[in-house]
Amino acid sequence: MRFLVCGGAGYIGSHMARLLAERGHAVVVLDDLSNGHRQAVQWGPLLQVDLLDRAALEQVFAAQVFDGVFHFAARSVVSESMAQPFDYYRCNVVGTLNLLDAMRRHGVGRFIFSSTASVFGQPLQAEIDEQHPRQPINPYGSSKLMVEQMLAAAAAAYGLRSVSLRYFNAAGASYDACIGEAHACETHLIPNVLRSILGAAAPLQVFGDDYATPDGTCIRDYVHVEDLADAHLRALHFLEQAPGAHAFNLGNGQGFSVRQVIDAASRVVGRPVPYQVAPRRSGDPETLVASSRKAREVLGWEAHWTELDAIIESAWRWHRAQPW
Ligand code: UDP
Repeated sequence: MRFLVCGGAGYIGSHMARLLAERGHAVVVLDDLSNGHRQAVQWGPLLQVDLLDRAALEQVFAAQVFDGVFHFAARSVVSESMAQPFDYYRCNVVGTLNLLDAMRRHGVGRFIFSSTASVFGQPLQAEIDEQHPRQPINPYGSSKLMVEQMLAAAAAAYGLRSVSLRYFNAAGASYDACIGEAHACETHLIPNVLRSILGAAAPLQVFGDDYATPDGTCIRDYVHVEDLADAHLRALHFLEQAPGAHAFNLGNGQGFSVRQVIDAASRVVGRPVPYQVAPRRSGDPETLVASSRKAREVLGWEAHWTELDAIIESAWRWHRAQPW
């Protein structure tokens, strides 16, 4: 089958393109390269197209038939979304609407969407399942929620089949260190820890050590990027017998604190992590851990990368090979 991977030059999208190609599918990557990297596009042609360019999108769908679309292209930095909300709504909501509209015109009926734990806002319980209220607290999360709502309407009106996958903290790199996480403006913990060890960035700042957690730092659920790609493929197969708009939370089911990540990284690398404690970062919930029970039961998905050290090691192998 042939699939369009929007955002396939980015971190999670490139792992998806690779998995699809490894399973024998034809892959076309659509990316405007605003955040993605040309060298991450290795498993199919790159169409450099901006999702706001409706005429170019029309040409993409007129030129070839796709059996489904995987959509990763989005802006995803929470603090940036608070400073530039219109940019986020334009890219994440209007861009996705343009994509869905082009799909509808050309009869493409399967859509797998990169959503986020940010659609839930402040957690009201220890493990977040799909029933948790969706009350985003920043434009990034609300832009993703708007797409989830569009997908529900599109299922009812046009019969579009979709799955929204809400990632918790995507982490790690491909098993052979060929692709990994490289954001121009890096805000995520594990890359920042590794860059700090490499001296490729200023010492890590630990945003707050006075939370009500065992060691005072925030707890997150780190899920390996290859496990995420696997969930997407399962979601696609699930849609064969499941009309409608569906959503699943994807995490490891285990929380690790910032300090545990720092300790694991220095174990893996064999060097201390240079860091300093800084004030809390605004909008950071104390604990974010997924319940992936529904994904397990319905998709048969399970995270294979369950050890924090192994996840960090895969990221380290990729990071240390980069010319920072
Ligand atoms: N964090 C940190 N220093 C950094 C980046 C992140 O202390 O340089 C903390 C952040 O405050 C949060 C956790 O690490 O508690 C995970 O943050 P990340 O940005 O990786 O993911 P998020 O949970 O915000 O999506």
